[in-house]
Amino acid sequence: MRMVDVIVNKRDKHELTQEEIKYFVEGYTRGEIPDYQASALAMAILLNGMSSRETKELTLAMAHSGEVLDLSKVVPVTVDKHSTGGVGDKTSLVVAPTVSACGLPVGKMSGRGLGFSGGTLDKLESIPGFCVDLSTEEFIQQLKSIGIVLTGQSADLAPADGKLYALRDVTGTVQSIPLIASSIMSKKIAAGAQAILLDVKVGLGAFMTNLEDARKLARMMVKIGTLVGRKTVAILSDMNQPLGCAVGNSLELQEALDTLKGGGPHDFREHCILVSGLMLTLGGLVKNKLQGKKMAEQALFSGKSLARFRDLVQAQGGDVSYVDHPDRLAKARLIVDVPSPHHGYLREVNARLVGETAVLLGGGREHKGDPIDHTVGVIIRHKVGEKVTADDTLFTIHANDEAKLEIARQVLLDAHQWSEERVMPLPLYYGTVS
Ligand code: URA
Repeated sequence: MRMVDVIVNKRDKHELTQEEIKYFVEGYTRGEIPDYQASALAMAILLNGMSSRETKELTLAMAHSGEVLDLSKVVPVTVDKHSTGGVGDKTSLVVAPTVSACGLPVGKMSGRGLGFSGGTLDKLESIPGFCVDLSTEEFIQQLKSIGIVLTGQSADLAPADGKLYALRDVTGTVQSIPLIASSIMSKKIAAGAQAILLDVKVGLGAFMTNLEDARKLARMMVKIGTLVGRKTVAILSDMNQPLGCAVGNSLELQEALDTLKGGGPHDFREHCILVSGLMLTLGGLVKNKLQGKKMAEQALFSGKSLARFRDLVQAQGGDVSYVDHPDRLAKARLIVDVPSPHHGYLREVNARLVGETAVLLGGGREHKGDPIDHTVGVIIRHKVGEKVTADDTLFTIHANDEAKLEIARQVLLDAHQWSEERVMPLPLYYGTVS
């Protein structure tokens, strides 16, 4: 077989065979197929798509390009969750300890932020000492002993996806439904949980900007998960405006800690309760979503979720005094409240512009491996539909550089749009796919 023939087949809109897909994934993982040929194939897939069968074969080939864990040998049941990425999405920090505190172990491998979308590992590293580089052996031991792990993806899991995702990021080939579905599901399958809850974000601050594409992606991922014997459910959730108020690593950690204490912004708390409730249902601890939500609420409001988060921080070498006293977390040098220039109803708070502002301030990275500043970010004070009076604080910027602060102020003002007429609040969800 020759790689050029595989590329030409996809370029000419033919379905690739299982052998062709395996040939590509195995050869690329071993370094025998060069990046330029992998890029050409990724672009052909982006332009011409893939059938469900091809997407499933690609997912399985990538999942089996490295080690595939079987966590059923470690704990009776474990449920994983994955968000397709968004702005202010600190859900894992609350949901993992909540579900674990309810008695369902959560062993989750998370990612770093890239572009306008944030990553759980960067948020956790705001806590001095917190280690996100556990070995597979350490991951398994901690899951067994305390029932919760939040770490980075081990290099042994789905290495083909690690290489291909980095390449897609620099070749304009991220925005492809079969490539996103296979990338996410290969990692989830390799990570070994028996059930998977997918949080597919849709809107201005998400990979999928319209509901039709988001639904297609969700259906494709649920189909693949189910085909390989994992109970899989997806929710479609709004990402037109940021989730919660805080955007930026340390600021988001503080908001997650507030939520773990039963407080936090209403939309974010509701989202965490729903995701936890669905995970508890998938894991068989409760019969339905309603019971799951009740159980999750009890864990949050009783302090059990917070106690489990503290156990997690301790187990992974973090300084728990920052959990007990979040005001000790390092702060940016410049903290500026910006008043609203208008009076009226908020029509838009553009999540993408807010996410890009956090990157501009230094809180995110343009390229994999770039260093980041954990202290900077933004607090958005109002949601779409709220009435804002001129001079109310519209947002607060946390910055370490005067010039960047001024750019951030302008971009964030542009991110807010007003209406004189009443505006309906945005929904939190657009449906479930199961
Ligand atoms: N997240 C992933 O893990 N992969 C993608 O392709 C897009 C988002």
